[in-house]
Amino acid sequence: MKENKRIYFSREEMFVLNRDLLLERGVKIEDIAQIAFNQQSKYNPKTTLKACIESVEKILTYRDIFHIVQLGVEIDRLAEEGKLRSPIQDVIRADLGMFGIDEIFGLEVAKMYGTIGETNFGDIDVNKPGIVKELNERGKPGTNECHTFLDDIVGALAAAASTRVAQILSEEEAKRDPNYEPIRMDI
Ligand code: MG
Repeated sequence: MKENKRIYFSREEMFVLNRDLLLERGVKIEDIAQIAFNQQSKYNPKTTLKACIESVEKILTYRDIFHIVQLGVEIDRLAEEGKLRSPIQDVIRADLGMFGIDEIFGLEVAKMYGTIGETNFGDIDVNKPGIVKELNERGKPGTNECHTFLDDIVGALAAAASTRVAQILSEEEAKRDPNYEPIRMDI
């Protein structure tokens, strides 16, 4: 039988592949949504956990996000299994603070939601709430796990979801204004 080596996936397939890979690494969509909720509910009391879950799910369907999640986790796994070559094997396994390429992955995710996405990522990167802290601790040298890339990707997914929810709430707010008049657009 011909081996299946597809490179194109539908958005539904990319979501399922991302969700399952995150689960394999011990991260649930709800864990990411909880960080987004805690961040956004400070600014907008209309934020709900359900809206945050929906945003995380939506973001996990995007092709750029798919490639970042899949590549980041794969680098972590290879480092975990000692399959990269030194010196980069040791740098990634040690989660060296001055490495910074894991933050680039995170920033790339957050950038999808503009400057607010990036500053929200900065907040999560510095304060390491919930699952981000857990991943950071589980991947410490001396353990048998490595999450050098994943902690940043997960933090950025939460920042992106938090920003997406803020945009949805802003849209709803605009439409509640008594002076709002719907404009028909054929786009
Ligand atoms: Mg990291």
